[in-house]
Amino acid sequence: MIHHVPLRPPSRDFPADEWSVIEKRFHPEFLAQLETMLALGNGYLGMRGCPEEGGPNIENATLINGFYETSPIVYPEDAYGFAKTGQTIFSVTDSKIIKLFVDDEPFWLPNANLVTYDRRLNMKSGSLDREILWETPAGKQLLITSRRLVSFADKHVAAISYSVTLLNGAASLVISSEMVANPPSAQTNANDPRQTRVFGARVLHPRTSYAKDRRIVLCHATEKSRLTLACATDHSLETSCQHADKVACSENFGQVAFTIDARPNCPIHLIKYMVYHTSQTASAEELCGRAEWTMDRVVTQGFQHLLASQEQYVDDFWRRSDVRVRDIREERTKRSTVEIQQAIRFNLFHILQASARAEDAGVPAKGLTGQAYEGHYFWDTEIYVLPFLIYTSPRIAKNLLSFRYKMLPQARARARQLGHRGALFPWRTISGEEASAYYAAGTAQYHINADIMYALRKYVQATGDEAFLRDCGAEMLVETARLWLSLGFYSDAKGGKFCINSVTGPDEYNTVVNNNAYTNLMARENLRYAAQTVHSLRATAPDAYNALTHKTALDPSEPDEWIRAAENMYVPYDEKLKIIPQDDSFLDREPWDFRNTPHDHYPLLLFYHPLNIYRKQVIKQADVVLAIFLLGDSFSPESKKRNFEFYDPLTTGDSSLSSCVEAIIAAEIGNMEKAIRYGIAALLMDLADVGGNVRDGCHIASMGGTWMMLTYGFGGMRDDNEMLSFWPRRAPEDNAILRFPVTYRSQMLEVEIGLEKVEYTLRDGESLAIRHELEEIHLSRENPVAVRPVSRR
Ligand code: BGC
Repeated sequence: MIHHVPLRPPSRDFPADEWSVIEKRFHPEFLAQLETMLALGNGYLGMRGCPEEGGPNIENATLINGFYETSPIVYPEDAYGFAKTGQTIFSVTDSKIIKLFVDDEPFWLPNANLVTYDRRLNMKSGSLDREILWETPAGKQLLITSRRLVSFADKHVAAISYSVTLLNGAASLVISSEMVANPPSAQTNANDPRQTRVFGARVLHPRTSYAKDRRIVLCHATEKSRLTLACATDHSLETSCQHADKVACSENFGQVAFTIDARPNCPIHLIKYMVYHTSQTASAEELCGRAEWTMDRVVTQGFQHLLASQEQYVDDFWRRSDVRVRDIREERTKRSTVEIQQAIRFNLFHILQASARAEDAGVPAKGLTGQAYEGHYFWDTEIYVLPFLIYTSPRIAKNLLSFRYKMLPQARARARQLGHRGALFPWRTISGEEASAYYAAGTAQYHINADIMYALRKYVQATGDEAFLRDCGAEMLVETARLWLSLGFYSDAKGGKFCINSVTGPDEYNTVVNNNAYTNLMARENLRYAAQTVHSLRATAPDAYNALTHKTALDPSEPDEWIRAAENMYVPYDEKLKIIPQDDSFLDREPWDFRNTPHDHYPLLLFYHPLNIYRKQVIKQADVVLAIFLLGDSFSPESKKRNFEFYDPLTTGDSSLSSCVEAIIAAEIGNMEKAIRYGIAALLMDLADVGGNVRDGCHIASMGGTWMMLTYGFGGMRDDNEMLSFWPRRAPEDNAILRFPVTYRSQMLEVEIGLEKVEYTLRDGESLAIRHELEEIHLSRENPVAVRPVSRR
């Protein structure tokens, strides 16, 4: 079901464009949404899309992935094992402010006479570009252009190229470049659990600050998490107009103010470089030194160099990742095709921005576009974002899995705390410690263990990176398999089957249940993969096997126990309905009264007490339907159809993680009308604010889901077996041609799904065997193979 009415600004002011998200008129009512949508980031550093002037803004956040402060989680009624320490990212030093004054008149968007206005997220150059023609109340006209980037190649670096040209008369200009630590926090809605915690006091404590020429360095540290941040700015000004500058610096503020006698048609060009360094161990002095080294380098190389390397990075990304749609009835549907193409690229580009340089860090639920969910990492990364990265940027995927591996010590400790063997990964975290304050929809989501192992398997299979499996993956597999074995039990009440009780599946509207089908199915995969990996290491890599047994104190009998549990895993089944009940008691619950639920009462979590929701048959997000997608081989086509048709009407889609998955299964069972409807909802989740909360940040999981929806859904791609396979799906009246690249074992395959044929081309690599529908195809470099889909024969 889709309840939310997309809130779209008038399209004439936001014209669709294949490579940009364009704002043609300043709309103060969409400030917050645009801050999110036009945010820049590189996975390490993120800047929301606020105007250069620093305002007006709703949440002018600059975020650093994994840079957080802790605070005690206060429970009015505490209990053993509850997560005790909250971790929250917060807005760090804002370095991007550039204010302009003309004859002392401040340039301030809401009251400026904007003769022309154009701001765009440029997804080709990886920059936020703005061009404005402003007429001052005194009749002076100025052309103001800027280009802002957060560098992918230099992860610590951001820069703004800012130009002002006076078009008539003469004027006295001040360009004030500023940086502010501890900017005021945005207002949040305390009743919305998805939003961030706001720190009352200042979070950044000054360590040192200084200015050298036009360079300013501010260094701060957090009190409890003991992290240090050095932020530096430097400037270069080019103009033939007369000018002078004045530098000011205090603990929380830095300013370089240029005073310029502007002459008509004499451009003034300022480059502002911004550098961020963070550390858990380095002293303030050392960190400032690092920031200065980076700054010396980028200033010497100049803005053009930064821009060129940005374009090259982004170009390379698109070569490996771009999904293209083209409609052969171009003229009639051109507009909608452009809109869809724009939405696809917007989603993929934001995933890049959330993950590219997430090194020693995860992907926060909102990337670095907003503070909602406190910058925490969830299962979103492994189930929704990693598939895209595995098949387009495997190096980034590996970084993210390595980061999970580094969490293993805390995951082991957490399992001990909860009375289990093995390791239990945190439901939400930054540091590796569990930070979920509500165990029912948090810690109880044990499925995260299996989700991470599912992604590991996909990664190893798609890349052939056996070394990673041997060195890191196997240890995670042993510890997660142990967790399942110690959590579940053989239940007499269920005919001796292996049962897992008191867990929460992906659907957070049915919590702490027995035998959540998704969890049991995914745990079964986890147990099997662990046993298979250990057996294969023992047989083929004795040294690695010995190292593993040493690291994990593995008893040779353990893998057989995992297999026994997997083979006896209880999977609920209802004979009458012929479906998989979501959990043991799901079918006993009273159906939710959808008919009398007002449309503006979604998401239900904001309008009903959890108990009202938990005792009803109502679903927040795909759960059984997700299992059917992830473990497709375990279900017959009839079973997929029956389960989808049963669960779809009960699924509110109150989580953005739902639509993309529903679209995939709808396509697989041939319900193309629903596949398209859900697919569009997923594609426009952020661009059209389908969920009504884009102001809080992009839905990065849903963005990853859009790629899955296109490739697995419409492309019918499957990777359950050793070979990639495709079974494209399309509606009879659909005239679009879909084209996407997939990197598999270091080779790049391009798939083009046309009306009458599907064409496979090996772009990089020598030879690859794939399956199309039931037919095996052998591809060699640049020799396209075209096949006619069965439905068209
Ligand atoms: C969803 C979770 C998800 C989280 C962060 C919640 O609303 O129910 O599945 O992990 O958002 O995106």
